[in-house]
Amino acid sequence: MNHAPNLSTADIQRVDAAHHLHPFTDYKALNAEKSRVIARGDGIWLWDTDGNRFLDGMAGLWCTQIGHGRREIADAVHRQMTELEYYNTFFKTTHPAAAKLSEVLAELTPEGLNHVFFTNSGSEANDTVFRMVRYYWQLLGKPSKQVIIGRNYGYHGSTVAASALGGMAGMHAQAGMVPGVHHITPPYWFDYGGDMSPEEFGVWAARELERAIDELGEDNVAAFIAEPIQGAGGVLIPPETYWPEIRRICSERDILLVVDEVICGFGRTGNWFGSDTYDLKPDLMPIAKGLSSGYLPIGGVMVSDRVAEVVIEKGGEFYHGYTYSGHPAACAAALENLRIMRDEKVVEHCANEAAPYLQQKWAEFGEHPLVGEARMKGLVGALELVPNKPNRAERFDNVGQVGTMARDFSFGNGLIMRGVRDALIISPPLVMTREEIDQMAKLIGKTLDDTYAELKKQGRI
Ligand code: PMP
Repeated sequence: MNHAPNLSTADIQRVDAAHHLHPFTDYKALNAEKSRVIARGDGIWLWDTDGNRFLDGMAGLWCTQIGHGRREIADAVHRQMTELEYYNTFFKTTHPAAAKLSEVLAELTPEGLNHVFFTNSGSEANDTVFRMVRYYWQLLGKPSKQVIIGRNYGYHGSTVAASALGGMAGMHAQAGMVPGVHHITPPYWFDYGGDMSPEEFGVWAARELERAIDELGEDNVAAFIAEPIQGAGGVLIPPETYWPEIRRICSERDILLVVDEVICGFGRTGNWFGSDTYDLKPDLMPIAKGLSSGYLPIGGVMVSDRVAEVVIEKGGEFYHGYTYSGHPAACAAALENLRIMRDEKVVEHCANEAAPYLQQKWAEFGEHPLVGEARMKGLVGALELVPNKPNRAERFDNVGQVGTMARDFSFGNGLIMRGVRDALIISPPLVMTREEIDQMAKLIGKTLDDTYAELKKQGRI
């Protein structure tokens, strides 16, 4: 049923501008420009209310692994809603969907992760992490272990604790910082690598963690939190030397490793989890997004046996939970999404078909005069746009302007990509076929050419 049957596009834009405060939005600028009204989705495609079609190169917001419009999920949610639309999981109760989903997740996630705490989002998952790591060390009689180390350009969500764990300076500036969080340099070779080779830089960046632990004191450090590949920070793919060194440091220095799989989880890097791709063995693993392919909001924290044993055996009541932790309809959506992903071998398709094919095209974009680096792992990638290609260190003035220009050209060409600083980034549905990738590659090529031509016209290159 259409709940806004008589509203024209202009009407929707008017009421939206009057009443709706969007996430991460400059309101005045948006209202001057008007919102795009997305009305329908099917597969990798979206349509707005004026009938324009877009290829969804960002899989919604890094989440629709299986693409839009899968009827089976709507049906599964409908069935669940007619049986039990809602009940909580507090007070010694559960329901079949939450119990079943916890079992499926214990099976799918890396070895040693056998418990899940359900949340509604990635942000809430990271708030849960914040509370659980401190609780864990308290229970072990080490209450001074409080500090969580994150990374600049890390993104862990938008709640107070999650935004503090993340390393987005603008977010910290607007809301202030939470005490007990420290940030280190990210493994972003293109920006910070200087004269080092990527391999040398990977080790150097990992040892930033060791230096931070020394500075803060091991007795004060509870955990290190990181995305396998930093997504919202610009698809920062670490050199191969980075993660082994981080894993060594976390083990030797007795701190927990929290691997935020909100973007990398559920196939994005060509394995079920980024932790599989990089062999990470997390102590805690926040998940969301691809868990339900975004069809309903659901997230969680996968908890390792090491942490679960302490929390279960030594803890009393964990004073933490959400009304909608393990919401039946959200669990039903996640279960059906995971069924589809398994039955249709979506992760295998990503690893063996879609990712190698797109990566080959991506490498070709690396030859474009505007592209300083083309990086991609699995189906998540970035193109760094630079004014003077041979010189990696040179950047455009007004960082972000060229990235936004390129993103706008992309939209105009019917492809949704995202601009982060002056990089164009992509994270398409995992189910893309070769033909669809060909179509997408044409639009990316045109977007680079359009941006290049405009910059030439402006005399900026
Ligand atoms: N962690 C990571 C790695 C994310 O990318 C995001 C969202 N982009 C979050 C956490 C927060 O998730 P949510 O928006 O569902 O709160």
